[in-house]
Amino acid sequence: MYGGKTLACIRFLLTLYVQQYGKKCTSVSLTPDAAGVTATFADGSSASGSFLVGCDSANSVVREFLVGKEKAKVEDLDINMFNVSCAYPAETSKLLRTKHPNFKNSYHPELGMMYWLSIMDVKDPDRPETWLHQSCVSWIGAPRVEDLPDQASRTAFFRERAAQFAEPWRSAGTKFPENLSFGIDRTTVWDPSVGWSNSDLYGRVTLAGDSAHAMPPHRGQGLNNGLNDAAVLVEQLEAVKQGKKSLKEACEAYEEDMRGRTVKEIPISVAQARMVHSWETLMNAPFIKLGMHKQAEAEALEKAKKDEENNVEAT
Ligand SMILES: Cc1cc2nc3c(=O)[nH]c(=O)nc-3n(C[C@H](O)[C@H](O)[C@H](O)COP(=O)(O)OP(=O)(O)OC[C@H]3O[C@@H](n4cnc5c(N)ncnc54)[C@H](O)[C@@H]3O)c2cc1C
Repeated sequence: MYGGKTLACIRFLLTLYVQQYGKKCTSVSLTPDAAGVTATFADGSSASGSFLVGCDSANSVVREFLVGKEKAKVEDLDINMFNVSCAYPAETSKLLRTKHPNFKNSYHPELGMMYWLSIMDVKDPDRPETWLHQSCVSWIGAPRVEDLPDQASRTAFFRERAAQFAEPWRSAGTKFPENLSFGIDRTTVWDPSVGWSNSDLYGRVTLAGDSAHAMPPHRGQGLNNGLNDAAVLVEQLEAVKQGKKSLKEACEAYEEDMRGRTVKEIPISVAQARMVHSWETLMNAPFIKLGMHKQAEAEALEKAKKDEENNVEAT
């Protein structure tokens, strides 16, 4: 489809493409001779071809036509999120890059909140006021979209919670510009094990990226899998071009690979998303107990081994 990071990658890898922006797909159907597929857009125009890849986000329209409206629905994990990016005055901007210059996460012990703070764009290294910082704050349950219906209530809630974090998260969440506008994002899941081999569109239409496998961002695996989809799909389409496979065989091979990876990843990402909002569970997580470095892991395993040997000797 048109837009998105996964498509951008497919487009890049295919190198040959027809590009149209600003089109909203509203329906997908087989061509009258069933030898192709047609996407129809909100402006009344349409485009037909031999194969269609829906990369139209977690709330994919293409998915609805492939599996039906009911099965296409996402599961809402009731994990709610502010995801904003903005610039700050120079001094604050420099402060936000302390602790780590690129990325840091904070988990509040009482609020059940995760606060991810990262740098998004350094337009001019010598002018910190031009740097774009990203804040992603998530929590389980209330307040939900309907509880904070206007910008003033969302801003007040964000500032009040951020004030309870340590620096530099505190400054990031209390000193963002007055006119910053943002909503509450829901965290949703869609698992491709649903399958669509019984669809009339099977072999002519497939899904990639979040439309094929929506997952929480707390393990950072959504785009990684989208890029993997793009690489495998392009490889398969190359085989079709070279006459080594039929389009249907290539599509099946792509979907088998995509499903195999993502049905494993989704439950892990869901578990991680839940864990980072529960202080007690989080404190027992390996990455807290052992750290993120292989060295720390090796040392901890070594220590555990020695402790065990000492215990055996002592008994
Ligand atoms: C806070 C946060 C942090 C993240 N961090 C990471 C990370 O570290 N690593 C990682 O791998 N992933 C991460 N992700 C996930 C990653 O951002 C997504 O998996 C990725 O952006 C999905 O790309 P996509 O192209 O499939 O979908 P999208 O980026 O959602 O793009 C979909 C496109 O389709 C368009 N569209 C929608 N409907 C239609 C329609 N009907 N017709 C035509 N076009 C349509 C949209 O306008 C959009 O341009 C993170 C996500 C969040 C929210």
